[in-house]
Amino acid sequence: MSRQIFSISQCTRIEMRLLKALRALKWKDNWPAQAGFFLEEIGLESSQTFVFSSLIDAVIKADPEFYLLGPVSPFVSRDELNLLAALGNASRKAINSTEGQDITIPPVVGTLVDECGAELRKARVLMKTRSPLMNSRTVPGITSQVVSFQDDRTLRNVKVVSVHRPTPGVRRVILGGHSLKTFQTDLPAQWVKIFLPDGTAHPVGRAFTIQHFDAVKKELTFDITLHERGPMSRWALNAKPGNALQLAGPRGGFKGVSPRSWLLLAADETGLPAIASIVRQLPADLVVHIFAEIADETERPFLEVQPRVHIRWIYRNGSPTQDPETLSEVLRYSPLPATGGDAWIAAEASVIRTIRTHLLRERGFELGRVHAAGYWKRGEQDHCDLAAG
Ligand SMILES: Cc1cc2nc3c(=O)[nH]c(=O)nc-3n(C[C@H](O)[C@H](O)[C@H](O)COP(=O)(O)OP(=O)(O)OC[C@H]3O[C@@H](n4cnc5c(N)ncnc54)[C@H](O)[C@@H]3O)c2cc1C
Repeated sequence: MSRQIFSISQCTRIEMRLLKALRALKWKDNWPAQAGFFLEEIGLESSQTFVFSSLIDAVIKADPEFYLLGPVSPFVSRDELNLLAALGNASRKAINSTEGQDITIPPVVGTLVDECGAELRKARVLMKTRSPLMNSRTVPGITSQVVSFQDDRTLRNVKVVSVHRPTPGVRRVILGGHSLKTFQTDLPAQWVKIFLPDGTAHPVGRAFTIQHFDAVKKELTFDITLHERGPMSRWALNAKPGNALQLAGPRGGFKGVSPRSWLLLAADETGLPAIASIVRQLPADLVVHIFAEIADETERPFLEVQPRVHIRWIYRNGSPTQDPETLSEVLRYSPLPATGGDAWIAAEASVIRTIRTHLLRERGFELGRVHAAGYWKRGEQDHCDLAAG
């Protein structure tokens, strides 16, 4: 196969970064998880990732032959240059609304290009205006690879089978129902969106991790953290057997570690159900370091682990007599194997950002081997981080 590709050096710095984010959104392994961070690097917020993700999905749906290279490729394809041209013109629309009319992109993608352009303008990201189809040279034999997101949007009706209290601040809710007959999970740490039906078209829905799936009884176990503020936390506090819910999924999940690697797991209580499901499936000889931040000692859950798993419990400690600790600070000053391994981290969004930067810049972790997802964000309802998969 021969394709038209060009040296990436003809792109501006902003174009290169935007391109890296767009490519990461459709790439394999942990790359989609990093896309939000790439967008943040050019001044966009991670919450704006969604519209860029929709754009690249729509582009590939409209044109399955769209030639998208790998996130760190030193080349740029003609298709990618055309997309950058469209985005550049959309981002400068306010400056010159007549530009960009000759860009040939599928019409269904046009609205999304405009939305992305609006996001770029909002973030004051000034893109280059370029014409599509620049001078070309043909380089044969390079193939692209596109991996689509897992997606299961079927809504299943379920009922609460039982409610437990493993620690004072957590409700363990077990859900069952006929609709789970066909339910399957294939990876640890997969999650679903649980909805509180209220008769409206837009019921409250939040993401929760499948802590355990009983494939015989077809029952799903969730550990829901109580935190005073949100509707889902309030619901869990008063949950009773027989309560009706709906759920969609599963999505995401832990995809394993590279050969001869070691594993870092770090989370607050929202990521602990995922860690519990991950450690149940790890090989016995894998070296694992877990850092888990919880309110205090009473919130320490039971975690069944292999001998090579080292756990460090970190207590926020509301007590005035003891110093509080935080996940990112403890991790920063803890000894870890000198060579970067694989990392899986989930906690509050700003904490995740700090830890991810530390792992990449100071601990030698490779970008594609750090899975970092904000599972909630201070001050934001239903925080959506595409990195969760
Ligand atoms: C993939 C994924 C898997 C998750 N798995 C789990 C899980 O297994 N168990 C679990 O407990 N959570 C899990 N979470 C986090 C959970 O979805 C959020 O905490 C969610 O916001 C809770 O919904 P809510 O209705 O209670 O609060 P929201 O209405 O979403 O938020 C209301 C307010 O509460 C704050 N808030 C939200 N969560 C917390 C918190 N944990 N502590 C303190 N303040 C908070 C928000 O900042 C906001 O100001 C997961 C999130 C993701 C993305």
